[in-house]
Amino acid sequence: MSNLEQTLSIIKPDAVERNLENEIKEMFKSKGFSILKEKKIQIEKSEAEKFYKVHETKPFYNDLCAYLSSGPIVVMVLEKDNAVLGNRELMGATNPEDAEEGTIRKKYGISIDKNSVHGSDSVENAKIEIDFFFKD
Ligand code: UDP
Ligand code: MG
Repeated sequence: MSNLEQTLSIIKPDAVERNLENEIKEMFKSKGFSILKEKKIQIEKSEAEKFYKVHETKPFYNDLCAYLSSGPIVVMVLEKDNAVLGNRELMGATNPEDAEEGTIRKKYGISIDKNSVHGSDSVENAKIEIDFFFKD
């Protein structure tokens, strides 16, 4: 049975800065994801703090929010069967050192903080994150 889902993907500042936007989009498309919506934006630190609120007690929270707001990002709504898990698999582990061959983070990630992409971790959070960036 099909299980069409949408998930939020972000190409983070380290990847946009290195002009990897098109290569990363091609990786999504070659795995069968449709890019339903996309925009290139730069967010305020206060917006990054809202987006990453789930991490507010973590030691890396401040640096993470400063980083996500440090330069342009590309936010996208991806759609495919089982898109949430499929995107997490294509992204690879949070730390690029631990990411499998063929994943975006293995290929492009620089470090655990500059790991090139964000992806929603559940269907519920995907809805919240898509609304965060694309609710008019
Ligand atoms: N992060 C970090 N240091 C850590 C753990 C995470 O800088 O020790 C950053 C990293 O960029 C990661 C983001 O915080 O992508 C969100 O962390 P999460 O555990 O949700 O990882 P993800 O879902 O992005 O794989
Ligand atoms: Mg996460």
